[in-house]
Amino acid sequence: MAEAGYIELGPIRPPSEAQSLLIRVTRNCPWNQCEFCHTYKGERFSFRPVEEIKKDIDQVAEICEQIRKFSWTLGYAGEINRQVLTQVYRRSGRHDSGWQNVIGWLYCGGQQVFLQDANTLMVKTSDLLEMLRHLRSRFPFIERITSYGRARTLAKKTVDELKELRAAGLSRIHIGMESGYDPLLEYVKKGVTAEEQVRAGQNVVQSGMSLCEYVMPGLGGTRWWREHAVETARVLNRINPDFIRFRTLYVRQDMPLHEKVARREFERPSDDAIVREIRLFIETLEGIQSTLVSDHILNLLEEIQGKLPEEKEALLAVIDRYLALPDEDRLRYRVGRRMGHYRTLEDLGDPAARRRIQQIIEEARSSGTNGPRSPEEIEKEIYRMMENYI
Ligand code: SF4
Repeated sequence: MAEAGYIELGPIRPPSEAQSLLIRVTRNCPWNQCEFCHTYKGERFSFRPVEEIKKDIDQVAEICEQIRKFSWTLGYAGEINRQVLTQVYRRSGRHDSGWQNVIGWLYCGGQQVFLQDANTLMVKTSDLLEMLRHLRSRFPFIERITSYGRARTLAKKTVDELKELRAAGLSRIHIGMESGYDPLLEYVKKGVTAEEQVRAGQNVVQSGMSLCEYVMPGLGGTRWWREHAVETARVLNRINPDFIRFRTLYVRQDMPLHEKVARREFERPSDDAIVREIRLFIETLEGIQSTLVSDHILNLLEEIQGKLPEEKEALLAVIDRYLALPDEDRLRYRVGRRMGHYRTLEDLGDPAARRRIQQIIEEARSSGTNGPRSPEEIEKEIYRMMENYI
């Protein structure tokens, strides 16, 4: 297969954009100070020239063209289907990230695009419009174009600007809201106030774009968990986003927040305390028609997923079911979840998994360097298992 050029990619995308083509519009994060975030630390923010982005889009089109030609050689008459893409992946030897990005995107239907990195909305609206129009002209079949946007930036955009972007194809904004409690936002250096969060969210909703707000259970620590839950829900009540997604806090050693943990100034709540916090958060959500989603692997209860207000009681019932489990079952569920064996509380009924996980717990309990491990040491082990996922 002939060479198609390099496509620049950023490091992350939201879990819901796993099927999306990634187009890097800016590099890194213009704020880069949030203490619970490690993704872009040490990296400088920069804009990519519109011409460079358009060239990447053209490269994607060129890769599609090469795959189409390859399809003819396989007897599929230019059709790009899963058999062709599997063969391209196996035979072409093109396993670099640009090709993988395109192959994976086409394999999943080729209908969604995610614009990287942390705050595409920083780009001048006219430049973003030019880029979106080019993308749509090369791939008219695209159904959804989405991006991360910082609340502070979106609070300053006019609804008319956002409407123009929507008309050009930008259909969903993901905002990392994390919390709606001002002292906490300041404490973790989020660089945005609750009022700005409201304005940003309302701007997006009024523009007609779909809005996904990310909330971070655990971020309030043991000190502010109540305020975090209640104030975050109150902010969301004023926004009424389409989606509210959970992404539970995990404090890695390379996050600035870890220094506060080391000084014992910040204490992450236990898994069970975070479940209680989420209960209070959901209880406080009122008057909105949002879908709650728990699709991040760091979340303990993937089942807290449903439409408000109609499924509110069912969501609270999932939480109550978990909290009512005997201690040993909750421990088994947490270990099973962190090991990737469990997705729902129903999975606790699987006898084979149950035996396997119980054995792992018993081994962990008995394998301390100076005799059996204490419950605190076991807790640390379970917590460390989360690091595998970020
Ligand atoms: S704005 Fe987002 S990407 Fe930037 S530092 Fe904060 S959490 Fe990380």
